[in-house]
Amino acid sequence: MVICGAGVIGASIAYYLALRGIAATVVERAAVACAASGKSGGFLALDWCDGSPLGPLARKSYAMHAQLSRTIGRDCGYRELTTLGVSTSAAGGADNSSLDCQWLDGAGAVYAQLGATDTTAQVHPRLFTRALMEEAQRLGARFVTGCVEGVDIGGAPSQVRGVRVDGALMPADAVVIAMGPWSGMASQWLPLPPVDGLKGFSITLEPKTPVPAQALFVEYLDEDGARRDPEIFTRPDGQVYLCGLSDDRPLPDDPSQVSSNSQATATLQRIAAGLASAMDGAPVLAENACYRPICADGLPLMGAVAGVAGAFVATGHNCWGILNAPASGAAMAELIADGASTTVDLRPFTPARFSTPLRTRN
Ligand SMILES: Cc1cc2nc3c(=O)[nH]c(=O)nc-3n(C[C@H](O)[C@H](O)[C@H](O)COP(=O)(O)OP(=O)(O)OC[C@H]3O[C@@H](n4cnc5c(N)ncnc54)[C@H](O)[C@@H]3O)c2cc1C
Repeated sequence: MVICGAGVIGASIAYYLALRGIAATVVERAAVACAASGKSGGFLALDWCDGSPLGPLARKSYAMHAQLSRTIGRDCGYRELTTLGVSTSAAGGADNSSLDCQWLDGAGAVYAQLGATDTTAQVHPRLFTRALMEEAQRLGARFVTGCVEGVDIGGAPSQVRGVRVDGALMPADAVVIAMGPWSGMASQWLPLPPVDGLKGFSITLEPKTPVPAQALFVEYLDEDGARRDPEIFTRPDGQVYLCGLSDDRPLPDDPSQVSSNSQATATLQRIAAGLASAMDGAPVLAENACYRPICADGLPLMGAVAGVAGAFVATGHNCWGILNAPASGAAMAELIADGASTTVDLRPFTPARFSTPLRTRN
């Protein structure tokens, strides 16, 4: 069993397979959590996906995060949060008296409480992904650094025979494509629909004074009149993470070639400085960019690949991959081991929902 990609989705599948006594080999081109799974916000919400096909996956995952933070035995940066809507263009509308928002002493006004500590939380995405992978390895999974270049298929009916890694064949009877936005490459190897990547920028600041456990969803009117929607997450280590700026630069083939942008950094710094004096002039600890994996309908792509026994895919988690990793990993492990998932119904995410005729080049 080979899992391609050690982002949060590949690591979660490896972890839940390992809990069932199935020791997978995880093949990762660069490093565990080197892409979006190490550089994203890590914001978790119980009910923000309600009313969409993601609702049950998100609710289940939200509960599993809380449980994992107690059972996994490693620091994942988990904590419950208050979540506020902040606007720089509207006057304050929320009753702020019970909210710890005095630290927002700049241009923004809190217009709503969007979540409380029983409905919103966070993990540190890199710590969380590494914890899953390390636990999977402790339980028997193998980690291999290498670039997956293809899937070897043979027989009639078609069956996975192995994975091509750095020019050599790694024999395997089953494979999971979990390469995030790079899963799009796998449509050359397996009958899979397109997967793309959307680029987002982020920075991490060290605030000058301690800040409360909060997530801020900000409507920001810039000096030039442009509206931006940054997201700000304070973290248990005292740092503050900001994201919410994007551009349409195409995904580079090599994950290590994803570059940040000094203009995006400067804009995020300006927004932070305008909202709170604690962030005005705060040192920038990290400047990052990463791509979230996205399918044509914005929903995850999870399930068995039609017509090729032993081939599975788990990607397309868009802006909720950290939240939805636990139930995705558990459900995929059940599908692989038992032929069906009980943790959540994976049918809304089946690759078969795309009716486009698919061809493989092998
Ligand atoms: C700016 C930003 C903020 C976000 N904030 C949040 C948030 O607050 N909450 C939330 O739930 N989600 C958030 N997300 C979404 C979340 O980060 C992603 O959905 C999730 O990380 C995707 O995980 P993944 O494992 O599918 O992909 P990735 O993290 O991209 O991992 C894929 C892995 O595959 C490897 N790989 C690629 N090609 C190959 C190859 N050929 N061979 C071997 N390995 C390969 C890569 O190196 C990489 O390690 C955010 C995303 C962005 C961009």
